[in-house]
Amino acid sequence: MSNLQADPDETVCRAASPNGPIRRLLPSRDVPLGGVRAMTVRRTLPHREVSTVGAWCFLDHFGPDPSPMRVLPHPHTGLQTVTWPFAGSIRHRDSLGNDVVVRPGELNLMTSGRGVAHSELSIADTGSELHGLQLWVALPDGALSGPSGFEQFTDLPLVETPTLSATVLVGQLHGQRSGVTTHTPLLGVDATLRPGAQQLELDESFEHAVLLIEGDLTVDGQPLPAAPLLYLGPGPTHISIATTAGARFVLLGGTPFEHDLVMWWNFIGRSHDDIVRDRTDWENHDERFGPVAGHGPDRIPAPPLPNARLLARRNPPIR
Ligand code: MN
Repeated sequence: MSNLQADPDETVCRAASPNGPIRRLLPSRDVPLGGVRAMTVRRTLPHREVSTVGAWCFLDHFGPDPSPMRVLPHPHTGLQTVTWPFAGSIRHRDSLGNDVVVRPGELNLMTSGRGVAHSELSIADTGSELHGLQLWVALPDGALSGPSGFEQFTDLPLVETPTLSATVLVGQLHGQRSGVTTHTPLLGVDATLRPGAQQLELDESFEHAVLLIEGDLTVDGQPLPAAPLLYLGPGPTHISIATTAGARFVLLGGTPFEHDLVMWWNFIGRSHDDIVRDRTDWENHDERFGPVAGHGPDRIPAPPLPNARLLARRNPPIR
């Protein structure tokens, strides 16, 4: 899952609008994952208008799709990957020696530290279409040179009300706290709403985003179409959600990310030079990115760097 990004420098301004809470609908774009008959994902982060929601910096919604996912060994720096299938199974192998299948109800978390490599291939014999999310979490400065790691979580907490069943992937909702390791205050929830309404308590210091996966949903009375991401700036202490026929949606949140980011391909750094070093090390088989067992010499080569220097992404002013 990769993307070429080179956006002009922009001004940081995340203060709440004096006219009330900030709301933006961010359209998704279709991105092919590459390869023959490969699946196309709907990507909403990073977005031209909003680069990050808290430390969430990448959001791909894939499927439901019978096409295989076949993402050969590739590197990551400066981030954590979060994989959460709704349906289907994905085999994850990494340069730390892990070889793990992730299934619905299970969450894979990989932390790059200075560098890690992994592959992700759907398991063909499950007879199930693949449907799910892959997200990236940008690491703050203090965690950039930390250890690489991989964890799988199979017992995430649930918030249950008469109308809501919500799995807390990351962070805390209504007193239920996930054990998933993060390095900045963060929230990630996969929620099913039965016909009716529900109020969700928010951390007012967080910015949030809502992605409708299926069904119909209103947020504070406004219908939310499928595919675009609804961005909510900091400030609100709760939102009211409602559905007529039922809905599945994802709620993300976090404290606005403090550092400038340069995102390019599968790397996140702080400068153009960081990215050049990451790319050179991957191409030179540097020991920071160990081999991923089981693939022989197969790996995804880094694309050529653009001619221009890569500039840091900042969230532009939202008014
Ligand atoms: Mn990856």
